[in-house]
Amino acid sequence: MATKEFKAESKKLLDMMIHSIYSQKEIFLREIISNASDAMDKIYYRALTDDNLNFEKDNYYIQITPDKDKRTLTISDTGIGMTEEELEDNLGTIAQSGSLKFKTENESKDDHDIIGQFGVGFYSSFMVADKVTVISKALDSDQAYKWESEGADGYTIAPAEKDSVGTEIILTLKEDTEDEKYSDYLEEYRLRSIIKKYSDFIRYPIKMEVTESRPKKDNDKEFEEVKEVQTINSMVPIWRKNKSELKPEDYENFYMEKHYGFDKPLRYINIQADGMIRYHAILYIPESIPFDYYSKEYEKGLELYSNGVMIMEKCSDLLPDYFSFVKGMVDSEDLSLNISREILQQDKQLKLIAKNINHKIKKELEKLLKEDREKYETFYKAFGRQLKYGVYMDYGQHKDDLQDLLMFYSSKEKKMVTLDEYVSKMPEEQKYIYYAVGESNEKIDKLPQTELVADKGYEILYFTEDIDEFAIKMLQKYKEKEFKSVSSSDLGIEDEKDKKQDEAEEKANEGLFGKMKDVLTDKVKGVRASKRLKSYPVCFATEGEVSIEMEKVLNAMPN
Ligand code: ADP
Ligand code: MG
Repeated sequence: MATKEFKAESKKLLDMMIHSIYSQKEIFLREIISNASDAMDKIYYRALTDDNLNFEKDNYYIQITPDKDKRTLTISDTGIGMTEEELEDNLGTIAQSGSLKFKTENESKDDHDIIGQFGVGFYSSFMVADKVTVISKALDSDQAYKWESEGADGYTIAPAEKDSVGTEIILTLKEDTEDEKYSDYLEEYRLRSIIKKYSDFIRYPIKMEVTESRPKKDNDKEFEEVKEVQTINSMVPIWRKNKSELKPEDYENFYMEKHYGFDKPLRYINIQADGMIRYHAILYIPESIPFDYYSKEYEKGLELYSNGVMIMEKCSDLLPDYFSFVKGMVDSEDLSLNISREILQQDKQLKLIAKNINHKIKKELEKLLKEDREKYETFYKAFGRQLKYGVYMDYGQHKDDLQDLLMFYSSKEKKMVTLDEYVSKMPEEQKYIYYAVGESNEKIDKLPQTELVADKGYEILYFTEDIDEFAIKMLQKYKEKEFKSVSSSDLGIEDEKDKKQDEAEEKANEGLFGKMKDVLTDKVKGVRASKRLKSYPVCFATEGEVSIEMEKVLNAMPN
């Protein structure tokens, strides 16, 4: 039989495909399974309008069969199959997508779940196989055909034997090299994990014979190896289920299954957006800090799915840094994917989704704060610092998103309070939101600078983390009230009489204060009399923007 040649461009393209489009070889299985799923969807869609065609769900599945002796991996489906012409068109022409054509031709039927569109996925099988054989029998044809290719040199098509409608893809795997053990793709555990990772939510069963160790029937102390065909994928993703059907355990199980964390999630969010942008998302707020959270190694991001197929493990564009602790996944059919279905650059839809998600997370945290204070404080203990970082890092740009989520320890309440709680309890004449900076609450309690403010009956927020004062400086105000450090030289509460007295005392003691300043030379800018002290003889006060504590942090930072 005559071997037909790929066109020159196709050769180059195929070479490129095989060597540079995909960053991971294992995705070949995702691509082939996706095609199989599309092929079965096509029968399903056909059955919607064709009365002679019955769609019995049980008859549609994908079978994975590794054969170590022959070194082959076979993926078969009971889908719509391909005619001789279709084999030629779809597999002989790179970037020809029969699925895209199908979608365009059947535009009127909404709710398409068909995955294919670029017409390149199939060729990813050459990343792992020396030879690819496709045996297919189309729904509309009595004759089956075999398409076979060893890569860029071309392919053959010939009649073949196949009883049932569908497609069988046989990959003859490459020889192992030092870098890649292709024979791993024949191992049960490896196949199972690839299927779980990328194709867990394909809506048709993906079956494979697996070996299980089980207690013997007559003697349950001994184990025996049993082979049986199992469905590997979960099929219906939790995010496609009706919210009312789902119990908290379902969310917790999904969290564990996906290895989002070892803890139990503190809160979950299920978003089913169906407006201008359509997407599903299951998001989690973890209970405890991941061990590497505050390290450079930590990578933020959500899993990204397109039509139930995982296309990115950590899509960082979906989360702002200040919500980097959020775990979970997003599935959308509206994404414009690039050819490898891997990297989405500057995608407009993605940006919209990200914005939407950001808003939902914020609302959820606010709700948590209102509904379950204790849980919120657990959350805040773990991730509050990140929120404050958020305020600081983007120059207060996201303060509207974040300021209501902040909490600080209160001198009066002896517990954490929000800024809103602080402001709502301020006496009418109080001008500022007061704060004091120190290493710990106990140390701040003893600060002489707090005396006057506390004496006035005003509440003081305690800042015990380095980031606190920096973040507040970015906020500047909350509900029109400015923040003021208790160490500030002008607290806005000294009355005129006291001020006059201070001035008089200063005059009277000019000589003494001058001497003190000389002795302390570059340590202080000036020495003053003050009525603010009650039980302490002396304290520091600052005039400028940078407090003594901020200066300490800044000095400790590497240049
Ligand atoms: P895409 O899936 O993006 O269209 P592929 O390169 O993965 O591109 O596949 C090319 C085309 O080959 C598909 O669009 C489809 O028409 C056809 N095809 C591939 N695999 C199968 C299959 N298992 N059954 C039926 N048709 C298939
Ligand atoms: Mg495909």
